[in-house]
Amino acid sequence: MEIKPFEKKLYLASPTMHGEEIKYIQEAYDTNWLSTVGANINESEKLIAEKIGCKCAVALSSGTAALHLAIKLAGEKLYGQAKVGHGVLEGRKVFCSDVTFDATVNPVAYEGGEAVFIDTEYDTWNMSPKALEKAFEIYPEVKMVVVAHLYGTPGKVSELRKVCDKYGALLVEDAAESLGATYEGKQTGTFGDVSIISFNGNKIITGSSGGMFLTDSLEDADKIRKWSTQSREDAPWYQHEELGYNYRMSNVIAGVVRGQIPHLEEHIAQKKAIYDRYKEGFKDLPVKMNPFDAEKSKPNYWLSCLLIDEDAMCKQVRGEKEVLYVSEPGKSCPTEILEAIVSINAEGRPIWKPMHMQPIYRSHAFITEQGNGRARSNAYIDEGTVLDVGMDIFNRGLCLPSDNKMTPEQQDVVIEVVKRCFQ
Ligand SMILES: *Cc1c(COP(=O)(O)O)cnc(C)c1O
Repeated sequence: MEIKPFEKKLYLASPTMHGEEIKYIQEAYDTNWLSTVGANINESEKLIAEKIGCKCAVALSSGTAALHLAIKLAGEKLYGQAKVGHGVLEGRKVFCSDVTFDATVNPVAYEGGEAVFIDTEYDTWNMSPKALEKAFEIYPEVKMVVVAHLYGTPGKVSELRKVCDKYGALLVEDAAESLGATYEGKQTGTFGDVSIISFNGNKIITGSSGGMFLTDSLEDADKIRKWSTQSREDAPWYQHEELGYNYRMSNVIAGVVRGQIPHLEEHIAQKKAIYDRYKEGFKDLPVKMNPFDAEKSKPNYWLSCLLIDEDAMCKQVRGEKEVLYVSEPGKSCPTEILEAIVSINAEGRPIWKPMHMQPIYRSHAFITEQGNGRARSNAYIDEGTVLDVGMDIFNRGLCLPSDNKMTPEQQDVVIEVVKRCFQ
């Protein structure tokens, strides 16, 4: 096969519009509902609540904003209202997913809390229920757990829920990447005491930006709606009893979201076809696709990823901001593959660098299935025992181009380029 760079860049995951979006934006314009009130917001909230199977969805300016308010609400349920100028989690530890986008854990810090990172399991690349149990043995006073579903693959959320219930902790579910995915027949976004989704530009469906808070509690939904619009009380003037935020979704953005919702299942089908084609294409290579439990879960296949077998890894050393590798026949590494993908004008991405390895969070505790484990320079200890699963997946894994609009012909080129890395 002759390999030529794509004329138009092939992205990791870019917005895929369908036409209805512009109609709803136009409608907002024509009716002059250009602020944070309007039919697009109401309709999007209704459609998402129906899809997810929850009573209420509250449209917000981003997934991060939704998570901030969700964590603050869970914090108030546990510890009561904080004094103005203080976070509701001040002096409290919160257990958090480790291999994830930092937006999952930053809101804990916004509220003054201290994230404690829980190691990942290999079955789904999400928070390990065993490591979570270990963490509660070490810190039984912790009352909040923030769990993300990585790359659209549900974590073992019933198992995590059980551990939370055993220790009387609230579960905050970050379903930003997993809209439309199910676990044991239920949509992600219904498992948390508070849950959120995101409509960021590269997610499975998008508003260009935006997010939603999901709940079965009318009272919680009203509270979030109030906080997100500067916490105005019902009075003839601007009356404030609580701290407010400007976190509500715009009716223009909601027009994009509204136009995208009917295409969610179509996007998932396209992403699944991409995942399946990679899986088939790589069947003779020493790699595995990002795994899921086929009996319990249906991912939304947001990003297709691969993990290189240990014995097929060439030498790769990552510093804080730079990386070196030594090419070897029959072997490869994420850096070599990502460079090969760039060389054909396509976009891949390393796995999310684990939070416990991030300079900003490096002093925080990190709990593995074996107990208290700090990052080491090498994920392996003697006899190939893996100490730190998150670091291992970061070292050996990568995200492949997963754009909905990628053609089978383009994907064949990507597959061929990856194959050549192992020659
Ligand atoms: C995208 C994302 C968020 C944040 O969503 P935004 O809408 O970009 O603020 C949070 N958590 C995870 C896991 C994400 O991937």
